[in-house]
Amino acid sequence: MQIENKYDYIIAGAGCAGYSLLYHLLQDPFLCKKKILVVDTNFNKGNDRTWCFWEDTDGPFESIVCKKWSNIEVLKGRMQRLLPTAPFEYKMIQGIDFYQYISAFAKGFDNVEWIASKILSIDAADVGARVNWEGGAANANYVFSSINGERIQSTLWQHFKGNVVEFDDAVFDKSVARLMDFNVPQMDATAFMYLLPLTDKKALVEYTLFSPNILETAEYDLVLNAYMEAHYKGQAYSIVHTEQGAIPMTTKKMTSTINNVISIGTMGDAVKASTGYAFQFIQKQTQQIVKQLKLNQTLDASVHYTRHQFYDAVLLYILEHKKMEGDEIFARIFKKNDAATVFKFLSNTSNLIEDIRIMLSLPTQIFLTAAIKVLFRR
Ligand SMILES: Cc1cc2nc3c(=O)[nH]c(=O)nc-3n(C[C@H](O)[C@H](O)[C@H](O)COP(=O)(O)OP(=O)(O)OC[C@H]3O[C@@H](n4cnc5c(N)ncnc54)[C@H](O)[C@@H]3O)c2cc1C
Repeated sequence: MQIENKYDYIIAGAGCAGYSLLYHLLQDPFLCKKKILVVDTNFNKGNDRTWCFWEDTDGPFESIVCKKWSNIEVLKGRMQRLLPTAPFEYKMIQGIDFYQYISAFAKGFDNVEWIASKILSIDAADVGARVNWEGGAANANYVFSSINGERIQSTLWQHFKGNVVEFDDAVFDKSVARLMDFNVPQMDATAFMYLLPLTDKKALVEYTLFSPNILETAEYDLVLNAYMEAHYKGQAYSIVHTEQGAIPMTTKKMTSTINNVISIGTMGDAVKASTGYAFQFIQKQTQQIVKQLKLNQTLDASVHYTRHQFYDAVLLYILEHKKMEGDEIFARIFKKNDAATVFKFLSNTSNLIEDIRIMLSLPTQIFLTAAIKVLFRR
């Protein structure tokens, strides 16, 4: 059969992972000439999410970082732990800036085509793979897919609703990112307020939970309103933006089993199971793919290595089986370690000594028992 449309690469889904891969491909002097098709239902997502992450250098998206912090704090009961993050900085990028930055950059390449349509299936083909969407289809040597995120099954979710609030007067300390304030209703989960001041008058205030069940919007609002009332009593503010979402916390594999279809992003297991952070893992994953394509190597999109995956599984086991309260675990980790060590541990870049230092912050009996359970479950 004659194939009408044949591409080198089809990027199925243009969210964080799809756009990241496109960006890194187009940065390469050889791969930027490949015939690329990008398919997504919606190229006008607006500012649907903000991404925060830490870095100790300027990354590829430094020019669109909208805010950075060099201090974080963690609160639980009377504990108020203020931690300098050096050599790292905690950074924020707005979704809309990211999408616009990469699509503007890609517009300079005639070899990149765009189709706004719903993908119906991705199948194996004699050579490469085939993508079928409403109104058309095409083949490619490789398909990089981040679609179907909504079909993920996970026992535990990181779910949240956040408001960007703006006051008339200065009320925030804009130099400190409040990473976790556990002094909120725990709702039989691990729950905290995440407060990121953008200016001294404006901040993202997000109620976040790790639990099996996602809440109704009104339930997040109740806690958010009570928090604002308790901390900024009687001071008027307006809500200028909201974000809501759920990120799977699982070590179960979700990747495609079809040859030449490479799962990326959440579907490519890029999310760190124990924290929900994914942005930097997605950068690592997509840069790794570009390097492998360039060297004509077998593509391997995995970014979490065995040792750190094991720690994730142990922590999830403890949270799922309620062997220890999550707020207690994170409070102890931040109380006994500096931010840089914790960041390295959570980025899978800590060495064994640093791992042991983190583990010694926690009750050995509980973690050892959980580790044995996880080992035998495998
Ligand atoms: C609100 C929110 C905030 C987050 N904040 C952070 C953070 O601060 N730090 C961090 O590290 N991680 C964060 N995450 C986690 C993670 O970084 C994001 O979920 C990230 O967007 C995952 O990238 P992705 O490409 O896998 O999925 P997405 O970005 O969701 O992209 C998937 C794309 O596929 C498209 N698509 C889906 N189905 C189809 C179909 N059938 N046909 C065509 N197109 C389709 C969608 O339109 C979408 O554009 C956050 C997640 C959410 C939801």
